[in-house]
Amino acid sequence: MAMPQYDKLINELSAPGRIAFSLPEPDVPVSDVKALIPARYLRAAPPALPEVSELDVVRHYSRLSQLNYGVDTHFYPLGSCTMKYNPKINEDMARLPGFAQLHPLAPEAVSQGALRLMHDLAASLAEIAGMDAVSLQPAAGAQGELAGVLMIRAYHLSRGEKRTKVLIPDSAHGTNPASTAIAGYHVVQLKSERTGEVDRLDLERHLDIETAAFMITLPNTLGLFETRITEIIEMCHARGVQVYMDGANLNAILGITRPGDLGFDVCHFNLHKTFTTPHGGGGPGAGPVGVKAHLEPFLPTPVVVKRRGRARDEGQRPEESGVTYGLDWKRPQSIGKLQAFWGNFGMLVRAYAYIRTMGPAGLRSVAENAVLNANYVMKRLEASYDLGAPGPCMHECVLSARRQKQQGVTATDIAKRLLDLGFYAPSTYFPLIVEEALMIEPTETESKETLDAFCEAMIQIAREAEKSPELIREAPVTTAVRRLDQTLAARQPKLRW
Ligand SMILES: *Cc1c(COP(=O)(O)O)cnc(C)c1O
Repeated sequence: MAMPQYDKLINELSAPGRIAFSLPEPDVPVSDVKALIPARYLRAAPPALPEVSELDVVRHYSRLSQLNYGVDTHFYPLGSCTMKYNPKINEDMARLPGFAQLHPLAPEAVSQGALRLMHDLAASLAEIAGMDAVSLQPAAGAQGELAGVLMIRAYHLSRGEKRTKVLIPDSAHGTNPASTAIAGYHVVQLKSERTGEVDRLDLERHLDIETAAFMITLPNTLGLFETRITEIIEMCHARGVQVYMDGANLNAILGITRPGDLGFDVCHFNLHKTFTTPHGGGGPGAGPVGVKAHLEPFLPTPVVVKRRGRARDEGQRPEESGVTYGLDWKRPQSIGKLQAFWGNFGMLVRAYAYIRTMGPAGLRSVAENAVLNANYVMKRLEASYDLGAPGPCMHECVLSARRQKQQGVTATDIAKRLLDLGFYAPSTYFPLIVEEALMIEPTETESKETLDAFCEAMIQIAREAEKSPELIREAPVTTAVRRLDQTLAARQPKLRW
């Protein structure tokens, strides 16, 4: 059988004169289009559109759609990204015409449902995280970090303190130093202990009058819970240092503990990770940010507020009588507006639907099962691979291909071989502090059967690394394309055919 032409663009399938439609000759006089359109709007030459049959078009795009790899078709163990299954009911809710077709500039009076949803979602997230207020505006975790750090900056300035540094562990995700630097701070990298936990002596050394904040991911990027976190937060607070929790790993602690209760001042949520709004391919996402009361005056504008007035609507339920929702812009200490309109509203609807369908007990079981699944995978693989950090882990486990590297097989090679065996690759080379890291996050939505199949593939690869390393270095051989230059498309984009 001939290989499908995956590598061809639709333009390359073009054959002169081939067309995708056949219409009968018109039975009315035909005007000369060129006479009707002013000359300055006419093209000099016809556009270079591909000349293809209907069947060419259908086959080309159907094949391309089948090359898509996603959680709806395959297991996606990408660590740190929480690629869990996104229930389809969320999609249905986001497509309700009242939400999907609402114009972002519609007046408050006709946007009450949307405003209420935003108000209630913010309240739910605040409850889940033990925070006092939440802004839904940031479009991603990274922007939530920026908003959080800007609020911390505004807070210090309001007290007449101009602090200049933010401390971030060396295990941090790259967005942490990036958003902190964009907010105008000098980033100081802290050392981690061998276990991935913060080196408290190094922290102590850097906690001074110039330090504005300490930013930490919990559980950390090695998938471990920082056991002395409350002590660390107290150390920071004693020096007037604000503590930011990167909440990308909230999936591990949902319903079990709350950042606010641990003492954090700020934390962001990645709705596209923890709260099943789809992600991948760069967006859209949503990264709401929660704060304690002392930071509330600095929230981005506008803030969605609930107002009590006179009864407005006959049809309202008694408990809602007289309640309206609106946008509060009059916030003199606010860091300002961060996003077009009100954030990525469609994502907010999906997250709201998820939280309401799960309920408190359901959300807790998310964390319990996510942690159970990650530990199951780690236990099954610990004989074949070195561990990146000692277990037990939280919602993800980090392996090291250190042992395989002695046979000349790297984490990249293992990741590529997994593609041949029908699995998406784990995150590789992150966190940076683990040699040849392979970071696996199974999530709570996968069955034991799927996890077993994945573990067996990983064990097979470890065996192959010993017996026939050259085979792994060739992988992948079954995919439409082999090993790509991973940066060429970003550095030299070819945007025209
Ligand atoms: C994903 C992630 C981020 C950044 O979140 P985005 O929504 O991708 O901007 C930050 N920190 C950690 C630990 C993450 O996993």
